[in-house]
Amino acid sequence: MSFKSISYQNRIIRLFQNAIITDRLAHAHIFVGQEGIGKTLFSKELAKAIFCQHPGADACDTCNNCKRMVTDNFPDLFIILPEENSRVIKIEQLKYLQDILNVKPLESKYKIIIIQSADRMNEEASNCLLKTLEEPPLYAIIILIATSLESIRATIRSRCQITRFPPLSITAVRDILVNNFQIDNIQAERLAFISNGSVERATTLSCSDAIKKKNWLVNRILELGINDNLTFSKDLLNEWHIQDLEVLEEKRSHVRELIFSFLMYYRDLLICKIGGSNLHIYHVDWRDALISKSQSLSEDVLFRILNVIKTSLEYLDYNANVNLLLENMITKILHIQFNNKPSSLQ
Ligand SMILES: [Zn+2]
Repeated sequence: MSFKSISYQNRIIRLFQNAIITDRLAHAHIFVGQEGIGKTLFSKELAKAIFCQHPGADACDTCNNCKRMVTDNFPDLFIILPEENSRVIKIEQLKYLQDILNVKPLESKYKIIIIQSADRMNEEASNCLLKTLEEPPLYAIIILIATSLESIRATIRSRCQITRFPPLSITAVRDILVNNFQIDNIQAERLAFISNGSVERATTLSCSDAIKKKNWLVNRILELGINDNLTFSKDLLNEWHIQDLEVLEEKRSHVRELIFSFLMYYRDLLICKIGGSNLHIYHVDWRDALISKSQSLSEDVLFRILNVIKTSLEYLDYNANVNLLLENMITKILHIQFNNKPSSLQ
């Protein structure tokens, strides 16, 4: 693969190719944008273009350096990310980075460090990184990859060149799903539409287990009554196998997926409510049921429910008790839904 394989980020590719040719690459970068839009892929292709033995602004994919980078076997490229089952990048990992940078590059004029999930550094790690960024060696190129700029300290931000990666277009996501993941055209189109420009999100949604769990959810949610909150939460945790998970991060990731499913369901109801049946909805197989359901709810109620879901997603990363967070969300949703029916139905 080379830059050609990520042509959907053309503007950013041109920017960096220009910097490679004119030898004006900054020492520290932040690549920011939502998950699953190719930031890590881009940073690896950038490293390949820089280290490639053939002159030019893109990787040849055939030289020894290019081949070794594909197998993560090139001595001047390092990737740092949170360790397994840890939410944060720890100070030890940043100290390791300092040690790496104290040694000159072995085979190139640069040493490239890619820090994934850089918005997950704890205080100590941030301090350590800041020290490195205050006086980086001339051969260092440090790339921080993050989904949110706000969670990176201002003192670090001010020392980095910031590149914002936009979400991919529906067509780009669809083409990637068809070409790289062998998903059929119709399904790819549907997934691309609901993925919010993220390939990662679209592929997660496409796996069959995810579809089965989602179907279960929609069938249940359509029939809920106001007093079903606790039994529903319990069934949900069982059906989605969240109860059995012991590692908090894994649990959080499943609950995030689950909350997204709620988001898609209520988003569909809102589309049915305001847009009629011609608009794109995700749960096409439930179109009639959703249209009928949407008639019993006001726009205001649906917006309020979507807000509750959005807030739960935001709190998920900061909450240790994810079961409780889920229960609270469901209780609030049902409360809004059943206490605010249009007056004609009360
Ligand atoms: Zn090459």
